[in-house]
Amino acid sequence: MKTYHLKGLLQQKGWLLDPFVTINSKGKITKIATSGISDEYINGYVIPGFQNAHSHAFQYAMSGLAEIHNYQSRKDDFWAWRYAMYRVALSVNPEQLESIATMLYVEMLRNGYTSVAEFHYLHHDDKGLPYTNMSELGERLISAAKIAGIHITLIPIFYQKGGFGQPAEAYQRRFLSKDVDDYFRLLEDSIKSIRHYENAQIGFGIHSLRAADQVSMKRIFKEGPADRPIHLHLAEQLKEVEDCINYHGERPAQWLLNQGLLNERFHLIHCTHLNSKEVKGVAESQARVVLCPATEGNLGDGLFELRSFQNRGGKWSIGTDSQINLNPIEELRILDYGQRTKTHDRAQFTSEHQGDAGKFAIDMTWHNGRIAMGEKKSNFLTVGDFLDAVILNANTPLISVSKPETILATLVYSGQTSDLMGTLVNGQWVIKNQKHINQDAIQTSFIKSMGQIKIR
Ligand SMILES: [Zn+2]
Repeated sequence: MKTYHLKGLLQQKGWLLDPFVTINSKGKITKIATSGISDEYINGYVIPGFQNAHSHAFQYAMSGLAEIHNYQSRKDDFWAWRYAMYRVALSVNPEQLESIATMLYVEMLRNGYTSVAEFHYLHHDDKGLPYTNMSELGERLISAAKIAGIHITLIPIFYQKGGFGQPAEAYQRRFLSKDVDDYFRLLEDSIKSIRHYENAQIGFGIHSLRAADQVSMKRIFKEGPADRPIHLHLAEQLKEVEDCINYHGERPAQWLLNQGLLNERFHLIHCTHLNSKEVKGVAESQARVVLCPATEGNLGDGLFELRSFQNRGGKWSIGTDSQINLNPIEELRILDYGQRTKTHDRAQFTSEHQGDAGKFAIDMTWHNGRIAMGEKKSNFLTVGDFLDAVILNANTPLISVSKPETILATLVYSGQTSDLMGTLVNGQWVIKNQKHINQDAIQTSFIKSMGQIKIR
């Protein structure tokens, strides 16, 4: 048992100032009081940890390395980048994946994420053969999350095709399941893998409409674990929409809607290219959208129809996807400013064009990010929850002069990672003063692994 005395604690209704927060030995909040005796005083404002609803850990190994543009015969677009990503995927062994993912998760924690949904499709060895434990690489990600101390939802992904009606390419051999039964065996091994870490849970899904045939896809949606979230990439690129129209005679979201497949269990990654009918249909289906603004910008995807989606009750969360940016407040700013630039209107993160945009963004991404992890709905930092939190330093110049009602907007629009005092997971400091509790050993292992990787 431990009691923290805090400068402020964010609750669903707003700031609770000077609270005493008691946790039990597992790190769950047992009491929130306005007076008491503390074990530790923290001169900071405590907000719920950010939820990273979409990550491909191995891609951290190429973050920032695909910006030397030397494609002379074709433009350097998403499809060209994809081959660079495939080469990295073919080059990483299990030990290297674990140390890369551990470093990545430490960096996520340092930037304020306390949970990650790992959209995991790198399943097999470099020849495309399954490991004895089909979830060998999934288990490495669980192990990485455990060493770093982040909550993880492992989402083993079904990947089968090279495009609509197209066989898979040799480059994709580490991703592929032979059929749905083969995928369900992988899922079973993955469920065994998460038992090694009490802060791990499972989801499932398919890579995208282009990577799975419709019979397999429908069977997975129907027969996958009934109470778990379903994730898939949707309509990220214009070419993907055109290919879907050529193959199915319909746009991707339109096809899913007309097949009656979408509901509140679905988390659709990107949804960049939806027409107004699809925006309405996805919002009404209660499927949620996971936006990855830095990656979507980096890969030249396009801009999501955020405003009309929100106006129809649509819900969204954020993810780091390619790992080009690990800072959640930058993700929110990139998303908001893309929309402002497009619409010439500053009020994007509000209902009915009014209210606190900072609170709205944190509310939206936390609640829907939690659901993407497979958690039930709840409120910020309440009794019974793990104390998973980010602490904003009360002494930074702008925060020190902020009134409580402007703190969140100051963080979202003017904040930097350096404004964070640290991150608590299960009530324990995992990051303090920008450093992980095992920073040096984790970074040494990461540097060694990166030095060993020979990109194929
Ligand atoms: Zn992705």
